Amino acid sequence: MILGETTMTEFKKAVRKAQTLILPLGTVEAHGTHLPLNTDTLVIREVVRKAAERNDKVFMAPPLQYGVCTSTGDHPGTIGISADALRLIVTDIVKSGHRCGFRNFLLISGHGGSLHVAALREASESLAATLEDTKMAALSIYETLGNDARDIVETSNDSHAGEAETSLVMFLAPRLVKGRAKEEYPHFPRPYILKEKVKYWKGAVWGDPGKATREKGEALFNLMVDKVEVLVKGFDKVR
Ligand SMILES: [Zn+2]
Repeated sequence: MILGETTMTEFKKAVRKAQTLILPLGTVEAHGTHLPLNTDTLVIREVVRKAAERNDKVFMAPPLQYGVCTSTGDHPGTIGISADALRLIVTDIVKSGHRCGFRNFLLISGHGGSLHVAALREASESLAATLEDTKMAALSIYETLGNDARDIVETSNDSHAGEAETSLVMFLAPRLVKGRAKEEYPHFPRPYILKEKVKYWKGAVWGDPGKATREKGEALFNLMVDKVEVLVKGFDKVR
């Protein structure tokens, strides 16, 4: 079920059966010279849409299109929000969803940034502790893929706008892929917080877009949809 496409009357009836609200989270973030700024939102929105359309016990909330972007914060086009803002907005959405009747909340991100995901987890911990009868899960979709993705993606160190994401956009929205950026593997001198991030990561690519294909994108997409279905079923098993 798609929340934004449901009327008040339809919702009232459907929510009696639906326990779970999935909130897809994306970014407006530089993804090389070849992928759109909304790559993370596009991918996770379509994955969750497919999973939610198949299951009348699940609603997909309209995606949150802004996230916490650190390494790409100075690249052209990136518009990020703070971790404080992300915690607040996610908290408000879940509290409001709880008043509507949802009890399980899956916050699933198409962006794997560590501060971004940490903010989602932190908000989820306090929501689970304070909201009655509520189960929370917060993660990046890429955390769920593990060995299954290794059968599809050849690049071992693929992370951002590389083989995986390029393949996914080639499958989901081919008109938005503008050629291919060059292979790139940045080296950040950790643990230092860099002021001139673009100097260390010129192309905003981490991986090899040249290895991307539409077929790999379709396989990754189907794998991601399966993983979301497993996550939804998992709510029944945890306390
Ligand atoms: Zn991305």
